[in-house]
Amino acid sequence: MRASRFFISTLKEAPSDAEIISHKLMLRAGMIKRLGSGIYNYMPMGLRVIRKVENIVREEMNRAGAIELLMPVVQPAELWQETGRWDKMGPELMRVKDRHGRDYAIQPTSEEVVTDLVRTEIKSYRQLPVNFYHIQTKFRDERRPRFGLMRGREFTMKDAYSFDRDVEGMQRSYQIMYDAYVRIFNRFGLQFRAVAADNGAIGGSGSHEFHVIADTGEDALVYCPTSSYAANIEAAEALPLATSRPAATEALVKASTPGKAKCADVAELLGLPLARTVKSIVLAVDDEEKGPAGTQLWLLMLRGDHDLNEVKAGKVPGLANYRFASEAEIVDWFGTEPGYLGPIGTRKPVKVVADRTVANMSDFVCGANEADFHYTGANWGRDVPEPLVADLRNVVEGDPSPDGQGVLAIQRGIEVGHVFQLGTRYSQDMKATYLDETGKPQLMQMGCYGIGVTRILGAAIEQNFDDKGIIWPASIAPFEVVLCPMGYDRNEQVRAEADRLYAELQAAGIDVILDDRGERPGVMFADWELIGVPHRIVIGDRGLKEGRLEYQGRRDAAATPVAVPEMAAFIQ
Ligand code: ATP
Ligand code: MG
Ligand code: MG
Ligand code: MG
Repeated sequence: MRASRFFISTLKEAPSDAEIISHKLMLRAGMIKRLGSGIYNYMPMGLRVIRKVENIVREEMNRAGAIELLMPVVQPAELWQETGRWDKMGPELMRVKDRHGRDYAIQPTSEEVVTDLVRTEIKSYRQLPVNFYHIQTKFRDERRPRFGLMRGREFTMKDAYSFDRDVEGMQRSYQIMYDAYVRIFNRFGLQFRAVAADNGAIGGSGSHEFHVIADTGEDALVYCPTSSYAANIEAAEALPLATSRPAATEALVKASTPGKAKCADVAELLGLPLARTVKSIVLAVDDEEKGPAGTQLWLLMLRGDHDLNEVKAGKVPGLANYRFASEAEIVDWFGTEPGYLGPIGTRKPVKVVADRTVANMSDFVCGANEADFHYTGANWGRDVPEPLVADLRNVVEGDPSPDGQGVLAIQRGIEVGHVFQLGTRYSQDMKATYLDETGKPQLMQMGCYGIGVTRILGAAIEQNFDDKGIIWPASIAPFEVVLCPMGYDRNEQVRAEADRLYAELQAAGIDVILDDRGERPGVMFADWELIGVPHRIVIGDRGLKEGRLEYQGRRDAAATPVAVPEMAAFIQ
């Protein structure tokens, strides 16, 4: 590729709404351009990275025996009604009507459609197992789209679905996908961890999430450095039932009336370890988020840098949707049954409340304790099965690992992949059966396997950047090598060598871009450092006179001289 024939559009400053580094750098490097909330144009530079991610995913899926097809983005509501998800999915499922008034879903995932395909295509045990996948646009009307491609509304996912005769077969298919995921994330060159996960809304049994390790990750991971134990915090943790109901209710009623209760008193009553920086505890209501159990109440702990009046005035980002709960609401909510408290130190509600709590609590981060462990909220609810309440407990660093092989550590991660054993969750509702050897119909055992293709870009950058810009791992960089000639537009010798080396590297199968724009060296270097191309070769007049070029890796502090005829071999 020649830069003059490509589209390069870099910015000195990121737009002010970009909060995290990957979002800022992707905008500055001209990889994405915002069209609407959570909706982006993938610009030519960004699309190259997306395609490389897709190719690695596709190669490994094919290698693992999965078969690619492509299922529609717009899917008839009837299929979603068959599984009950038309109602269950709530506002995250984007719905549209056609001119005849028929309902459709814009797919957030494709269990229904693939199960429908398979129930009509697969008749016999001889055709199993089978695993179909596609790499397709998804739409989820996320409550708080943010962080660029990390939590978009429109995004690209690879989703695969396995169908087996029995549970053992499903478990084999699951393991094959798990192993493929390990290969995929290794090929991306990212530091990642697979953790045991809750099944969440999809249902079934047995699930792992793949997380890219990054401090800015929305998820907390619990692992044991001296054993293989690893789980996401929802799977690892539950909290002690902090307090009995009457005392808590009293505390909360007071807490909702500023000035009535001291923050520390409320914390003590609720059994919350109170961060030094927490100044106020507020009970708030989010009217937008109504679950089957009714309005939710949120216990918010506000740091010292937020004033209660600012919250009331709707000026605190992320809290603008909230209003203070009234005493009547609190009493109504905590009426007569025991409540439970959870979660602390996690950005997500625990499973038992998942169907009626907002998916993400990190926008109202409210305090940090001394170990820099963030409390993001505490959530009260009812309908909690007793046994769950009983074993609710708080996981903290240094706790013994459940496998007895050491102590637990906690780190942050970005969920980039998720594998599930679904069992018959969908095949039952949709009557997806095959005929066994005796001619009897049997339900198929399913698994599903997602990778957030576009989220990978954000995650890769969160792990690989410096003050100059992005540092792409070579396998997913938009270009592997950039040639920077000093004065391409005016120096014959430089131009001739740049063209020659460009042709040579291209012939060797290297993904190279020649910066023939004639930009000043400072501008040229700043652009490519921002864009994050891992290898740079500078072709200069002076060097050429001595028969050498300069190589500099994106992480190198200084350039290395390399003799002209040796450069092609050096770069490989
Ligand atoms: P999250 O917990 O981040 O909301 P999820 O658990 O809802 O993700 P899954 O249903 O497991 O997501 O989908 C599979 C993969 O799709 C996720 O592991 C993630 O990489 C990606 N993904 C999910 N939601 C988004 C989104 N809004 N933007 C970009 N990628 C996403
Ligand atoms: Mg989600
Ligand atoms: Mg998740
Ligand atoms: Mg998931």
